[in-house]
Order: sequence, then C-alpha cells, then structure tokens
Amino acid sequence: MAESDSGQLRVADTGDYDVVIIGAGFAGMYSLHKLRGEGNSCKVFERGTGVGGVWYWNRYPGARVDVESLEYSYTFSADLEREWKWTEAYASQPELEAYCNHVADRFDLRRDIQLETNVLACHFQEDSGRWLVTTNKGDRVTAKYLVMATGTLSEPKDIDLPGIENFKGELYRTSKWPRHEVSFAGKRVGEIGTGSSGIQCIPEIAKTAEHLTVFQRTAGFSMPSNNGPSDTRRTQEWFDRRDEMHRRQRESQLGLIMSEFGPNSAMEVSEEERRKMYEERWAQGGIAIVGSFNDLLFNKDSNESCAAFVREKIREKVANPQVAEKLVPTSHPIFTKRPCVDTGYYETFNRDNVELVDVRENPIERVTEKGVIAGGKEYEFDTLVLAIGFDAMTGAMTRIDIRGRGGKSIKDVWENEGPVSFLGLAVAGFPNMFMIAGPGSPSVLGNMMGAFEHNAGWIGNMIRYMRDHQLQTIEVDEKAQEDWTAEVERAANLTLYPQVDSWYTGANVPGKKRAFSAYLGGWANYLDTCDNSAADGYRGFRLSGVKENA
Ligand code: NAP
Repeated sequence: MAESDSGQLRVADTGDYDVVIIGAGFAGMYSLHKLRGEGNSCKVFERGTGVGGVWYWNRYPGARVDVESLEYSYTFSADLEREWKWTEAYASQPELEAYCNHVADRFDLRRDIQLETNVLACHFQEDSGRWLVTTNKGDRVTAKYLVMATGTLSEPKDIDLPGIENFKGELYRTSKWPRHEVSFAGKRVGEIGTGSSGIQCIPEIAKTAEHLTVFQRTAGFSMPSNNGPSDTRRTQEWFDRRDEMHRRQRESQLGLIMSEFGPNSAMEVSEEERRKMYEERWAQGGIAIVGSFNDLLFNKDSNESCAAFVREKIREKVANPQVAEKLVPTSHPIFTKRPCVDTGYYETFNRDNVELVDVRENPIERVTEKGVIAGGKEYEFDTLVLAIGFDAMTGAMTRIDIRGRGGKSIKDVWENEGPVSFLGLAVAGFPNMFMIAGPGSPSVLGNMMGAFEHNAGWIGNMIRYMRDHQLQTIEVDEKAQEDWTAEVERAANLTLYPQVDSWYTGANVPGKKRAFSAYLGGWANYLDTCDNSAADGYRGFRLSGVKENA
C-alpha cells in the first residue's frame, strides 16, 4: 500500500503492459488514445495532480499559448474540433487546461492515467526484452514499449542564483506555479528572467503590485499577439476546409500556416515592399512575421532587416528613451533565441510602478534574506518571481534513471555525445523506447500538436507492424543515428540559430554539451523521412524476433 499526495491509500501497481507512457500532457494523452485504440494495454504515469503537462504546471498570471489556438489544437477528431470553441485567438492557460481535461473525459483517458506519480527509473531487462518502470509510489510495472511523452520544456533548470535559499519572502517559479491564488497587491515584487514566461507574467504582475523590479539579462525580441476574441466565422471556415488546412500545415516550413514562409528573399524586394510586408505580418500578430520572407532564418542581412523593423517598433512603444534602449535587443539575430509573443509587455515599462534593471550593467551578485543585490545595490522584495527557464529538450528524460542495453544510461549518452537520436524518435542502445517530439525532431521549432499526433501515430503503426511480424525488439542502428545527428547539425548550420547561446543549443544550462537540438530541415521533409523509414520496413532500425518470456 502507498499513500497518495491527497492522503488516499492505494495499492502499488505491479502490472505488465504493452505500453507505459510517461507524461499526461498533450503528447501523452494522445499517445494513450492512439495506442489504446489499437488494442494495446497502456499505463500512463504523470507527476501532476491533473492532466495537461505544460498547461498544468505553467499557471502563472498571463500564461497563454504563443501560436494561434486554431493551430494549437488536436486534429485527430473532427468531432472534437467541431465541439470545442476557443474563446480567444490565443488561449489562456486556464482554457488550455480545461481543453486538456475535456479531452481526458471525452476520450475516457483517465482510467489509464496514474497522477501524482514520479517515475524514478526505467530499466531495460535484457532477458525478457521488457522495460521495468519504477515510481516514487512503489509501482513496479513492466512494459514491452516505453513512450517518453515527458515534454521538451518541462524540467525547470536548476536555480543559478547564489543565496536563493536565504530569501525570506514569497518565492515563485513560473514553471511550477502553485494552484492557489497568488496576490501581488500592495507588494514589492522582483522578477528575474525576460524570456517567453517572464514577458507574459510581467504585465500581469505590474497591474497590482505596489512596485515591480524586472531583472533583464538579455533583451529579447517580442511581438504583440494582437489577441482578441475568437473570430467565429474564421473558425467555421477553418473547420469547413480542415483537410486543406491540415495539408497546408504539413507542406509548410514549420508545420504552421500562420508562419508560412513567403516566396521571396527579403533582399530581393525593394525597401518599401519589405516594410509593407513586415507591417502586414506585424498587424497579423505573434510569430507570423517570421514567414514574411523565405530567408529570415538563413540570411544575415535579411534577418537584420526584420530585426531593425522590430527594434523600431519597440522604441515607439517605450516612452523613456533610456529604458527603450535597454529593452532593444542587439545581442543576437531575431528568431535565434525563441521569439516571444506578448500582450502589452513593452508598454508595461511606461508605468510608474515598474523599474528595469539591466543585469549586464548591474550583475546580480546574490539573493539575500530581503531581496537581491545587483550592481552593489540591494533591492528589497516581499515576493520574488523566477522565470529563468528550463533544462530543455533532454532534461525531463535525464532526470529519470533510464538504462538500456548493458546498463547504458541516457544521461551519460547525452552528456557525452550531445542530444543524439534517430529522427528524434529513438536512441541507439535503448530498444523499444520511443520519444514524442524528442531531440533531433523539429520539436519546438515545428507544429507541436502536429508532432505529437504524427509521432504517436508512427509509434502505433510500428507496434502493429511488430505484432504482425511477431517481432520483439526494435532498436536504432548506430550508423543511422550518426547520419541523422549529422543531418540535424547540417540543417542547423544552414541557419543563423547555432551561432547564438540559447536553450536550443543547451547553452542556458551550465555544463550541458552544446549542440543544436531540433531538426530544421523542413517539416514535410521530416515527416516524410519518418514515414519512408516505416514504409521501408523501419529503415534505420534493427528488428529482431527474440522470444518474449515475460
Ligand atoms: P527562457 O526562454 O530560457 O528565458 C529565461 C530567462 O531567464 C532569460 O531571459 C534568461 O536570460 C534569464 N535568466 C536565466 N538565468 C538567469 C540568471 N541566473 N540571472 C538572470 N537572468 C537569468 O525560459 P522561459 O521564458 O521559461 O521560456 C522557455 C520556452 O518555453 C520559451 O522559449 C517557449 O518556447 C516556451 N514558452 C512558451 C510559452 C507560450 O507558448 N506562450 C510561454 C512560456 C514559455 P538569458 O537570455 O540571458 O539567458
């Protein structure tokens, strides 16, 4: 017997399953629906007290999706698409979490999801060819297949602020926001970090805090979402033409229609045409601007023309020219660090109760009992909010003790070799273990929902193939992994991304091996490569029929 966080007694699970899925966010929920629907017995372990993954944990004020909700929805069920109506163009966290809960109920997923459970270890048993999965709740289950739906931005990075343990006020992380209400009214608040999470919560905190001090290390590029109520006519049109929309997504560079690349280079049109295009995309809102031309991710001059346009917009929004200059990004090409999408971010710095501290000029020395010392000055706070990012792409898997053949640990592999994989789906030495949107897939640089549905569908087909052919193990061929890793690097090196320190390259986590971790060779190309491997009898994998004795 084990006690759950809610105090209920439960019997630890010692069952044997076809598939164990780790994580009940969008990826894990769809994997469960798909794989269970194909007749597999499935068990899902989830750390949270509810489903939703990233939309369960990141419940900070202002959290909302930065891709239009129409494109950030499941597509596998026309009924679901027809039933669910987003109220805003960019859904807020509560609505996204409600959507996850609706899906869990609508498809009867909860009966196979065990909440409040941390998976501690997954060990491949060479004798049985099965995975043994153990949890902090005493569960010891086995599975023929392991599906890691652990998320790309789900493991907060370690707090690298000396003295943080001394702070006596309220301390919050955006990535682990509490479920209870947090009030900033009448409080002196310090906020560290100006990536997507910081940029979303800062305007909301500023609305009620007595005073807000924002500590910015790197000024980023942020585009206004121009969010508003959902356009019901557009939603209906989208639904009526859903097959065409899904085809257009599949054929686009990033899997998203809103950021579909225009046909021209920014350098082959006149300055006037260039500006007109940027204005149009700016008015469209969010990341639409990345598709203004076909070479903003590739050509330095084209990229700079877009960066200059956005800088100008920032200067227009901020009243104090000195503050504006601090907010204007100059350290990296636009888009090479994940661009942010905001609602009134820059305008927030026109408020009397908001102050910006540039920590490159005034480095944070340490956190004290009362606040933060930066540039020799102590800032006192009642509340400190950290939006300092994630151990992205690999962190959610390396925190679990995953061991494949010969006790090989995924942590060691990725620490030594970087985030290697074949197609972002699997890693050599870890038979029958598959990842959803893993490192080496387009992942965070593509359509996430599309990736979840594609990868889970691919895994479902693969399991059926294995069953039909009475095969027991499928594992990545080392040479295929080597070639794919080289292809990921080659594709990244055609762009401006790898030149910059970012969480895409692992540079935000001290000691992490630097490598670009997402595939940039084109969305359709990626999907085709995966599907062609399957059509070719799972080219790049070794399949064997070792008898199962579990
Ligand atoms: P992030 O992009 O990694 O930003 C972390 C911020 O904290 C950066 O400004 C970083 O500065 C700063 N920072 C980190 N450690 C620091 C330190 N010791 N001292 C001072 N500053 C420090 O993390 P995030 O904002 O949580 O976003 C991560 C990703 O999650 C996003 O890029 C996006 O893909 C996703 N996300 C999406 C949404 C959405 O869909 N709406 C919302 C939030 C997040 P440096 O840049 O100098 O390192």
